[in-house]
Amino acid sequence: MHVSFHGAAREVTGSCHLVEIDGTRVLLDCGMIQGGGERHLRNREPFAFDVAALDAVVLSHAHIDHAGRLPLLLEAGYRGRVLTTAATASLCRILLADSAHIHEEDAKWKIKRLKKRGEDWRWVTPLFNAEQAAEAIDRLDPVDFGESRALGDDCRVRFVPAGHILGAAIVELDLRENGVRRRLAFSGDLGVDGARLVGRPQPVDCPDVLLIESTYGNRRREESGDRTELLHEIIRRTAARGGKVVIPSFAVGRTQEILARINDLVESGRLSGIPVYVDSPMAVAATQAFAMHPEAYSDQARRALRCGDRPLEFDGLVLTRSVEESMEINRRQGPAVIISASGMCTAGRIKHHLKHTISDARNTILFVGYQAQGSLGSLIRAGTDPVRIFGEWHPVRAAVEAVESFSAHADLGELLAWFGSLGGVPQRTFVVHGEEPAALGLVDELRAAFGARAEAPRLGQRCVID
Ligand code: ZN
Repeated sequence: MHVSFHGAAREVTGSCHLVEIDGTRVLLDCGMIQGGGERHLRNREPFAFDVAALDAVVLSHAHIDHAGRLPLLLEAGYRGRVLTTAATASLCRILLADSAHIHEEDAKWKIKRLKKRGEDWRWVTPLFNAEQAAEAIDRLDPVDFGESRALGDDCRVRFVPAGHILGAAIVELDLRENGVRRRLAFSGDLGVDGARLVGRPQPVDCPDVLLIESTYGNRRREESGDRTELLHEIIRRTAARGGKVVIPSFAVGRTQEILARINDLVESGRLSGIPVYVDSPMAVAATQAFAMHPEAYSDQARRALRCGDRPLEFDGLVLTRSVEESMEINRRQGPAVIISASGMCTAGRIKHHLKHTISDARNTILFVGYQAQGSLGSLIRAGTDPVRIFGEWHPVRAAVEAVESFSAHADLGELLAWFGSLGGVPQRTFVVHGEEPAALGLVDELRAAFGARAEAPRLGQRCVID
């Protein structure tokens, strides 16, 4: 068996790994390379493997850093299917279409700028367009969690719940090489313990070869305490001042996890009379997709559903789509919760909400996710005052709070616990999907705690497994 690493090798984004066994070639994920500097230019480079020779593509989950280069793979000549869970297929519909829209807008903006300068603009094209995204979506072939599906004569695939976001899966490949059975497991992104809506990552049987993510491979979250209670306390305190809680949140995953917790507060009578707005067209679409896929919920959420409690429907919840509805929220007086994107406050409607609320001491800005260095979110979180929004300076009078444990990624302790749940030590472990210090950190921990033969492969490395 050969495994080669074509992305997310000593970095977080661009997940893309090729498994070759006898005559079968399976690609795990085909994600976009994201992040600052020149990194994104690599998305335009040709794939470093024979795309037409692939037998199948298997997708762990819908995040763009795992699925975002699928349209380019088709463009490069891939003619086969893309196997994934039904919930991931639904979310891909939203995320790939949104990604195409961003690339088209970027290209338009670049052309406008070049035209203004009188320079040649004809070379500018979007990374992919809406049509190409739609073609990729057409190739998605949903497989149920737990179902074993053949990918050619010598390979079967099975999806196991990974928590993280709706539909996210650990991918198990059951392979046959020269008549010998070999198993490979790819963790995809692993979720956190106690996620309300999607549950925790499930164990798999110990594989011969493991690919494990390491986003937080060198970090343990310090915070303790029940996330629902932390959220309740912040809403309660702010409402007592007559203020609004403004939550910048990623549209897919984080927003729904927070809604499920507010749902618990409302259904148990601990929170009432406070409207909760989800103000982001993508978050609204994602919330509807979540509602369509209870098969991908945690046991707790499924039990509640059987008792008639839909986790994403409660009194006071308002999903807004139009700009007029969005503006109406800012005119409204009194306590409210406003959840809006983007999660790092770099774009989207959240910037309007911040502009209207950040200088009023009654309000709270609540961060629930990672804030990349330099983003507006990171500045506010770090206590910068005043901050610039849409070119104007605003004093920060609102309270600024953060609940870190809403992260969708397992921390070091949770990664080690999941590895321990395999019930054995894989023959080889490849640590992927983490910046270099995080990947190497997890390598050291796995060697020390389990005596694992762990390594962090480099980009383009092809490893022989005998
Ligand atoms: Zn992810």
